Amino acid sequence: MRYSQALLPTLKEIPAEAEVASHRLMLRAGFMRKLTAGIYSYLPYGLAAIRKVENIVREEMNRAGAQELLLPMVQPADLWIETGRYEKYGPELLRFFDRHERESCLGPTHEEVITDIVRKDVHSYRDLPVNLYQIQTKFRDEIRPRFGLMRGREFIMKDAYSFDVSNEAAEASYWKMYEAYKRIFTRCGLKFRAVQADSGTIGGSFSHEFMVLAETGEDTVVFCQDCDYAANMEKAAVSLRKQEKIERLEQLEKIQTPGKRKVDTVCEFLKIAPSQLVKTLVFMADDQPVAVLLRGDRQLEEVKLKNLLGAADVEIAESSQVYDITKVPTGYLGPVGLTIKIVADLEVAAMQNFYVGGNEKNYHMKNVNLGRDFQVDATADLRQITRSDPCPECGGKLKLTEGIEVGHVFKLGTGYSESMEATFQDSDGQDKFFVMGCYGIGISRVVAAAIEQNYDADGIIFPVPLAPYTVIILNLGLKDEKITAAAEHLYRELQRQEIDVLLDDRDERPGSKFKDADLLGIPFRVVVGKSLLNSGLIEMRIRKNGAVEEMTPDKVIPALLSKIADESTEKTDDP
Ligand SMILES: [Zn+2]
Repeated sequence: MRYSQALLPTLKEIPAEAEVASHRLMLRAGFMRKLTAGIYSYLPYGLAAIRKVENIVREEMNRAGAQELLLPMVQPADLWIETGRYEKYGPELLRFFDRHERESCLGPTHEEVITDIVRKDVHSYRDLPVNLYQIQTKFRDEIRPRFGLMRGREFIMKDAYSFDVSNEAAEASYWKMYEAYKRIFTRCGLKFRAVQADSGTIGGSFSHEFMVLAETGEDTVVFCQDCDYAANMEKAAVSLRKQEKIERLEQLEKIQTPGKRKVDTVCEFLKIAPSQLVKTLVFMADDQPVAVLLRGDRQLEEVKLKNLLGAADVEIAESSQVYDITKVPTGYLGPVGLTIKIVADLEVAAMQNFYVGGNEKNYHMKNVNLGRDFQVDATADLRQITRSDPCPECGGKLKLTEGIEVGHVFKLGTGYSESMEATFQDSDGQDKFFVMGCYGIGISRVVAAAIEQNYDADGIIFPVPLAPYTVIILNLGLKDEKITAAAEHLYRELQRQEIDVLLDDRDERPGSKFKDADLLGIPFRVVVGKSLLNSGLIEMRIRKNGAVEEMTPDKVIPALLSKIADESTEKTDDP
């Protein structure tokens, strides 16, 4: 491509709307433009990066035996009513009526549509397994779209669905996808981790998220420095460490804590550590109040609570709600004498002689003991893991790091096939439900995550496999015949070698050409300018590390080809 003919509108100013690096850089590098909240137009440069990801994904999905198809974006509500998700999905599902008053929705995901296809067209165990995927635009009506392509309302996704005869076969399909995903993200040139993820109420251990490690990640990844354990926060199980047993349970006492309502201020006032206090939080779980007991210095992991209660929705109660239910003002609630459902974190169950709210304004209680002073309905692992907890698998040292979820593999089981009555005839002549799996990759998100992981003050630093152009040639002497001839020759030669190349032939000052080349993040920059006239040399620079080499024109192409081959991740062994 010739820059002079390209729609590649770079911005010098930092756009006010952008909150994170990838968003800022994608706007500045002319990837995309916002049409409306959470919805972007992809300009040629951005689309080229997206296509690079798509190609890698497509090759690896095909290699793993999946078949590509393309499903509609508009889906009839009827299918969603069959699975019960029309009710459950919430306002992220954009619903509307067509001119014939038929209720429809814009697909945020395609389990219903694909199950409908398979139940109509796959009838025998002989036709299984089948794994179908598409690369398509999805729509989720996020309440607060943000971070550009990271959490948009409209986005490009690869979604795959596998159908198998049995649990064992479905697990084999699952692990095949898991391996394919590892190859995909490796080929994209990304630093990532596959982590155990929460599989919610569906159960089973068969859910992994693929996280690109980056400081701006929305999720926290927990991994062990001593073994292979890796999980997201929601899933990371906290193992209870042995507590020192105190011999004597002390006498329960009500103590004054005038105006002290927060953990910090209560502890400061009583001169105790937050680890000696138990806080009582009230949540509404599907509209039922539940008191949750946690050690004062711990954070609740809501997903763990949700799973314990089997609730579809869990939300912290408002102060006024808590008062209506308990008649206790905020900050003084405690479990002693409390009549609503109470659940306690494992750690609380092992504590003795601790402090709690006194269920009366300006009072707390000390020397409280579970079992003697109050009862709970359940104890479970409810808190967030911390870096000082031991690894749940080996007891080793944990590390917490930020990550961006770019892929998710999930064993679904028979939930969808049962609710949609999708069956096949097995070898024994019996009708059985398909055992399903689903596998997503946020294609547009991969591009954003790649940038979050690879940029500096000057702009993007694309990994070679995702770079829209691998090489940029700067012609710094448009009016000089020799310089222009050399630049044009290199341009044609690289094209002949099927290298994606951008020739900056704009009538711009060298300074802005250098700036744009850095901003765009093209891995290799070739400068044809005065050095060619003075000393017969052309400069090559690597964006990633700033390394510069000068060479005679005949050396440029071989040097580039060899460096590109070094950086390329496409050489993967056959499975
Ligand atoms: Zn470990």
